[in-house]
Amino acid sequence: MEIERGTSFAGLTTIGTGGPARAFARPTSLAELEEAVGWATRHELPVVTVGLGSNLLASDAGVDALVLRLAGELASVEVAGESLHAGGGATNAVCLHRARSASLGGLEFACAIPGTAGGGVRMNAGAYGSDWATILERALVVSSSGSGWLTPAELGLSYRHSELGPGQVVARVEYRLTPRPAEEVKARVADLVAQRKATQPTNKRTFGSVFKNPDGELGAGRMLELCGLKGHRIGGAVVSPRHANFIENADRATSADCVALINEARRRAREQFGVDLEHEVVLVGHALD
Ligand SMILES: Cc1cc2nc3c(=O)[nH]c(=O)nc-3n(C[C@H](O)[C@H](O)[C@H](O)COP(=O)(O)OP(=O)(O)OC[C@H]3O[C@@H](n4cnc5c(N)ncnc54)[C@H](O)[C@@H]3O)c2cc1C
Repeated sequence: MEIERGTSFAGLTTIGTGGPARAFARPTSLAELEEAVGWATRHELPVVTVGLGSNLLASDAGVDALVLRLAGELASVEVAGESLHAGGGATNAVCLHRARSASLGGLEFACAIPGTAGGGVRMNAGAYGSDWATILERALVVSSSGSGWLTPAELGLSYRHSELGPGQVVARVEYRLTPRPAEEVKARVADLVAQRKATQPTNKRTFGSVFKNPDGELGAGRMLELCGLKGHRIGGAVVSPRHANFIENADRATSADCVALINEARRRAREQFGVDLEHEVVLVGHALD
């Protein structure tokens, strides 16, 4: 397995910003993944796994870590009865396609979540009343201290949260699905995609939700809209005029532009609503105010 230098996060993330990874590798099997984790330990580097980079904002100065993107066997998908077995790097789109072809339902909620199986576990990603915790049977987690299968309870999955630390890599997942006619799965997906298109920016470079929804009636998007942030721009980054909990890369944005918008949004939410918004996007290599 080759260790590459200088791979840029701009090409690894959906927002298209961020500097170089100190080291980068694409393990294609469990053995290669364990080898990569061992390499990082010997070089005293942290491990950062990137899925589709769809909820990730990396520092413009780069990230001092071994960055992994799972490939090959670690991105493959197989149907096993009423279960779907996927590599941590398998995309949600491929998993959903395979489930539908096998007349299995349960993953439809993930149709508008442009990530991977492993990223879904780490974030406990969710939409439309379902999340990873509702379909995940178990996940194989690899780290410098060994590997083992963990259940959702052991992973500590709750709203957009897991207890997984940065050095823990989700290598494989097993989903428990439900028999459902392929046509029904297809119709449900079409319905959810239409709902998504009506409310959120779908053809822009973003990293999905900036903030988790706070407790209470008011969601983060509506709160930020009431703070007058829709369309607010810093450098090349702009708060989506469509949905205020999204930041778009409008024109050669940097991660610093996005972080400045995040800080401004948090400041206004604190001032106007007394709420400390917690960011959902994972920041690698930089800090907020
Ligand atoms: C247009 C758009 C819409 C979105 N809609 C939703 C939505 O409805 N609901 C929702 O929950 N999210 C949504 N997101 C956010 C994002 O898609 C999810 O959080 C997704 O699960 C992230 O997966 P990823 O593989 O891209 O992870 P990344 O963004 O690459 O990484 C996110 C975190 O997961 C970790 N990670 C990634 N892969 C692994 C792995 N194999 N093992 C261990 N850790 C790993 C990373 O280190 C990082 O900490 C949206 C994003 C976009 C751009």
